[in-house]
Amino acid sequence: MTLPIIKYGDPILRQKGEIVGEITPEIKNLVAHMFDTMYVNNGVGLSAHQVGKAIQLMVIDTKIHIPMVLINPTIKPLSEACMMIEGCLSFPDKQISISRPERIEVTALNLDGQSLTFECGEMLARVIQHEYDHLQGKLFIDY
Ligand code: ZN
Repeated sequence: MTLPIIKYGDPILRQKGEIVGEITPEIKNLVAHMFDTMYVNNGVGLSAHQVGKAIQLMVIDTKIHIPMVLINPTIKPLSEACMMIEGCLSFPDKQISISRPERIEVTALNLDGQSLTFECGEMLARVIQHEYDHLQGKLFIDY
């Protein structure tokens, strides 16, 4: 099932997401709907904020790596910043060139509640950092 995407101007995009305490059947349903919504809109990442839930949850599918669900993520920069052009499903037709670390370390829970830590770079690191910002109530226009 696809969900409507929250567009810029809605105050929920400025809220800090609440920590996900327990991975309930509702969370699992939400994740399934978020994947559907991301794919139908040709996105490579989507935060829960963008479907109206201000919680620490994102889905990612860059098509280069396996699809992933990141819950309560934290990120640590591992390299210098580089510039890359980004888009955002909450800002149709807007693309901005933004400087972010090229490589990062990510720690998060997956949908089974297991903690994982991994390093990534390039496109995947970029998308994760963009969605991570959404979870803090930060938007790419802030750069
Ligand atoms: Zn976005």
